[in-house]
Amino acid sequence: MQVCATIAEARDALRHVERPLGAVLTMGALHDGHLALIRRARAECKTVAVTIYVNPTQFGNAGDLDTYPRPMQDDLRALRREGVDVVLVPSNHEIYPEGFDSWVEPGHIATRLEGEHRPGHFRGVCTVVLKLFNILGPDRSYFGEKDAQQVLVIHNMVNHLALPVDIVTVPTVRERDGLAMSSRNANLSTEERRTARSLYQALTRAQDLVAEGERNAETLRHAIQETLTQEPLANIDYISIADPQTLTELTTLTAPALASLAVRVGQTRLIDNITLQT
Ligand code: AMP
Repeated sequence: MQVCATIAEARDALRHVERPLGAVLTMGALHDGHLALIRRARAECKTVAVTIYVNPTQFGNAGDLDTYPRPMQDDLRALRREGVDVVLVPSNHEIYPEGFDSWVEPGHIATRLEGEHRPGHFRGVCTVVLKLFNILGPDRSYFGEKDAQQVLVIHNMVNHLALPVDIVTVPTVRERDGLAMSSRNANLSTEERRTARSLYQALTRAQDLVAEGERNAETLRHAIQETLTQEPLANIDYISIADPQTLTELTTLTAPALASLAVRVGQTRLIDNITLQT
């Protein structure tokens, strides 16, 4: 496995590799969710490249950036075990050199949900994803459904700007109690970790109601809210029942809908989503 620190090294390492080349972009602190993406890439591609980069421009909150876990040696060991070919671990200076001032401005879909609560987040995501695509030149790139809005925003960027890469989405990997795996889970105290279960419990409660015939979106939002407000450590950022393509909030479910939420548990902000099958 070749570990590269610079754009030049990564370009060199990937110049003559066998294709298809699959890319998995991460912020590190790797868990089984990341590994599911990497395994899928390994199964489908001749060469697999992974990036580990905690992108400062997608963090609105300096505290969140500072406390983001960075277990680099463990991560590199995990990537070696998975048979990854090339890893890019760029410095901030490599990605945002002196005078950097060119940005990808995603459109309307990036202003809802996460975009509303984290202004500038998807501008930072799109800019770094485009730059990493330009460095690696992958045929395919693998993204987790855990970040459902991110998948929509990246799909749009790829389509609207005619980027020569296929986006592949991978289902959310969960802990045994349903909590979606996330690097931020490592920052939860024991009590907060117990509280964090309620996100998935709330989403599955909505799914159960839909299975029983409920189609009123406001009733579903209310049921999710009720589950979460029973938890004293949980503070809701948003609860959404939306069209899975446009993220427009629904009044009535007539087709599968995206139920998504963001909740702060102590200092840690967690997100999750499921598709409500009608
Ligand atoms: P991150 O390191 O959090 O930026 O995530 C890197 C990639 O892994 C993104 O495409 C995420 O959607 C994906 N990912 C993160 N957590 C999970 C999970 N629990 N299941 C599946 N994919 C995930």
